[in-house]
Amino acid sequence: MINKQLKLILVSTPIGYIGSGRGGGVELTIISLIKGLILLGHKITLVAPKGSKVPFESENLEIKLIDGIDQPSWQHQKKTDPVLIPSNSVLPRLWEVVIDLAISKESDAVINFAYDWLPLWLTKIQKIKIFHLISMGAESFVMKEIISQIAQLFPLQLAFHTKRQSEDYCLNIDPIIVGNGFDMENYLFNDNQNGPLGWAGRIAPEKGLEDAVKVANNLDEKLLVWGLIEDKEYASKVENNVKKDIIEWKGFLPTNKFQEQLGECRAFINTPKWNEAYGNVIVEAMACGVPVIGYDLGGPGELIQDGLNGFLVEPNDIKAMIKAIKSVSIIKRRNCRDWVEQNASNKVFAQRVENWIKKGLNKNFRTDL
Ligand code: UDP
Repeated sequence: MINKQLKLILVSTPIGYIGSGRGGGVELTIISLIKGLILLGHKITLVAPKGSKVPFESENLEIKLIDGIDQPSWQHQKKTDPVLIPSNSVLPRLWEVVIDLAISKESDAVINFAYDWLPLWLTKIQKIKIFHLISMGAESFVMKEIISQIAQLFPLQLAFHTKRQSEDYCLNIDPIIVGNGFDMENYLFNDNQNGPLGWAGRIAPEKGLEDAVKVANNLDEKLLVWGLIEDKEYASKVENNVKKDIIEWKGFLPTNKFQEQLGECRAFINTPKWNEAYGNVIVEAMACGVPVIGYDLGGPGELIQDGLNGFLVEPNDIKAMIKAIKSVSIIKRRNCRDWVEQNASNKVFAQRVENWIKKGLNKNFRTDL
């Protein structure tokens, strides 16, 4: 098994095609991982909603695009909501293709990136080895229940981005933590210490843009904001609560443009209101050399090394955030980039994922049959 080339099927999120922004951080995670796994010599089939784009080609990459209606995202449903599958949903169609491919290609493993009930449940009834990289905290009871069941039956087939995220679930082994990975070639180091303040993420309540805006308002500075406006009503409410011109909306940009503008910032603000599973934008800012001031909540608390690549402050503590921003010049921008290279490049990420899959394939891990 040590140097064996693995035949892997990667299944993307059914919430939006890769490149739409609707799939959040999962879109970038999957692209970075494909590149990293190919560099390690593995053969990849990507199964993703129609419209998905991968910005490189390889003889070791095959892409299957599937048409259908997007799944609604769990983070905008109530915790008690049941599983919902719309008519003509892309989700079951993705999995019909995946199962056929896994059998016909004799693939070694399937890696699922969808935070959805169906693929988790399929793990119980299918002979193919389905691994799940869980991309959110426990945002719904029915999801928490199925993830906890899989954790009992196939503990080695689940991995999480961060330890804090995994703590939302009932697990019976130490969680497998794989972090995340970024293609360092896509992010240029920028040493400019005098730029503006920046914030990025989906514009939705769980991301807490209102706090970052209050910070900028208090400092009487502009806040550059990148990201997909998921909730228009929320966006206007945030904007109407501060002085005019505090927010400079930059839109949802492709990575090359996003990183170029991000790198100009002197500090990046991260203000989640939920148990953020990871926080891609934090690491992307650091990859450009930008220190991050963030709430010590969920993933950000494991990514921000206080005093090295940014500062951690108590969640919702706007005063502490303002104070931290005032001392951001203490942080060496080069340290931010170095931390990402050492801990979150797509190479180290792919290596961690490879170790996880090999560990899972080596064991007969179904515990109840
Ligand atoms: N993003 C982007 N262009 C933008 C702003 C954001 O491509 O202008 C991407 C960013 O690269 C990141 C994702 O949006 O991968 C947001 O992911 P994150 O993990 O921060 O949060 P999520 O949306 O998954 O909760």
